[in-house]
Amino acid sequence: MLDADFFRRWMTVTAASVDSEAERLTALDSEIGDADHGSNLQRGFRAVKDALDKEPPATPGAVLTQAGRLLVSTVGGASGPLYGTLLRRAGKTLGEATEVDRQQLAEALRAGVDAVMKLGGAVPGDKTMIDALLPAVDALGESFAAARDATREGAVATTPMLARKGRASYLGDRSIGHQDPGATSSALLVAALLEAGP
Ligand code: ADP
Ligand code: MG
Ligand code: MG
Repeated sequence: MLDADFFRRWMTVTAASVDSEAERLTALDSEIGDADHGSNLQRGFRAVKDALDKEPPATPGAVLTQAGRLLVSTVGGASGPLYGTLLRRAGKTLGEATEVDRQQLAEALRAGVDAVMKLGGAVPGDKTMIDALLPAVDALGESFAAARDATREGAVATTPMLARKGRASYLGDRSIGHQDPGATSSALLVAALLEAGP
């Protein structure tokens, strides 16, 4: 079972890997965006980590809801409200439970991804974070390792895609041949589940 401390570790590990990959995320965003994705997420997940360290919420749902709220308020750009929606909706779906299993986490994240698609209007294949998140949710029923592999493949698979949402879509055909920054950071978030360990 996964308790609040597991969810706190998940956010902490994500913050650490966003820190170490921030330059790469920003470099990817400089190819097809405005070169701020790494710094945007770094600011957001540092705020999340600080808040959770200071006062750890009592339930898995509360960890995700608080993390989502902080991402909305600290991350500039499109990705803040989108990641915020993902985590807040997932947290709300988990409700008040003090422990959840991997299946419940998968269902909650699916609800979160659905909410992100509704908010941003992206569908699979549009070259966004959705392309890394949806395969992860599908594989999560199997294992955290399967989810990590699926999310990394999903992120890499955005390279040949034409961007249809967000800033990269302004580039038209010139968006082809670059890995999507948001899909790349989403893969960090999913991979952190394995490292956070149950
Ligand atoms: P901004 O483009 O405002 O500078 P970021 O650079 O932080 O924001 O985030 C860009 C990422 O956000 C993209 O790489 C993409 O994955 C994701 N994104 C942008 N628009 C959408 C959308 N409508 N739906 C889903 N994801 C999106
Ligand atoms: Mg950007
Ligand atoms: Mg920006």
